[in-house]
Amino acid sequence: MGQSMHTAGDALKKAQQQIDRMDAQYLLARLTGRTRASLLAHPERELPAEMAIIFETQVAARAAGVPVAQIIGCREFYGREFVVNEHVLIPRPETELLVEQALARLSGNKCPQQADPPRVLDLGTGSGAIAVTLALECPHANITAVDLSVEALKVARQNATALGATVTLLKSNWYHALDGQKFDLIVANPPYIAKNDVHLAQGDLRFEPPMALTDNSNDGLASICTIITGAAIHLNDHGWLLFEHGYDQAESCRALLAQHHFTAIESVPDLAGILRVTLGQMRVPHPSTAAAV
Ligand code: GLN
Repeated sequence: MGQSMHTAGDALKKAQQQIDRMDAQYLLARLTGRTRASLLAHPERELPAEMAIIFETQVAARAAGVPVAQIIGCREFYGREFVVNEHVLIPRPETELLVEQALARLSGNKCPQQADPPRVLDLGTGSGAIAVTLALECPHANITAVDLSVEALKVARQNATALGATVTLLKSNWYHALDGQKFDLIVANPPYIAKNDVHLAQGDLRFEPPMALTDNSNDGLASICTIITGAAIHLNDHGWLLFEHGYDQAESCRALLAQHHFTAIESVPDLAGILRVTLGQMRVPHPSTAAAV
């Protein structure tokens, strides 16, 4: 008897006993370069032995909880494919809302720029998904992105290069390396999950860098506080700050912005209807007004 042949259908059937059906189909589709529909329409197709082995390894990794994005090494964001690994947060669809809101302020006349090109800062860039997308969608902007993690900066550099985006990448603990620099728009998807949140021990989050998820504060707002306080110093007059936050943090975020001379404060819902991005415009107090209060 010859060696038994693997068919795509058999491989899928076996995989589905261990992992989610859609994940199995997606992984095999990526591996074979076929669409899921084509895989399902032709379960009798032979799977080359090398591919069957790789697929089994991937299924085992997924069964152990490794995120699909880390198994295949990339995730789609705003219509482009970004390289990801265990050193960066996997880009989430919700974060596209942050990008949309930033673009609306960069392209419209909502942002009476002092400088042309507008200067944009992305704090805690991770994979670079936000910074690279802004650079490509708004080519006239001048984009700086920082991260504390050198490993994350390598991934961001790789993505910027692969996608042809011009982004200045710096190692920095929030604003530390940006002494004296001013921007017209600051964006951030900071760690905002509260220290004891049960989600940190569940699903994909177990495999993502803890520093991208939580700053270990009890309310998850410590980094957001640092970002707002620094934005008051690093934003030009009329500049915008926009950041992502947790499902229950919108009200606290708006209150923090109000305490720091921001106006036009607003929280925007994501597709699930959760207030997910809060933003505000910096109004540097006029010296005489400031003196009066
Ligand atoms: N949105 C992510 C999650 O809840 C968290 C990302 C973050 O902390 N910035 O899974």
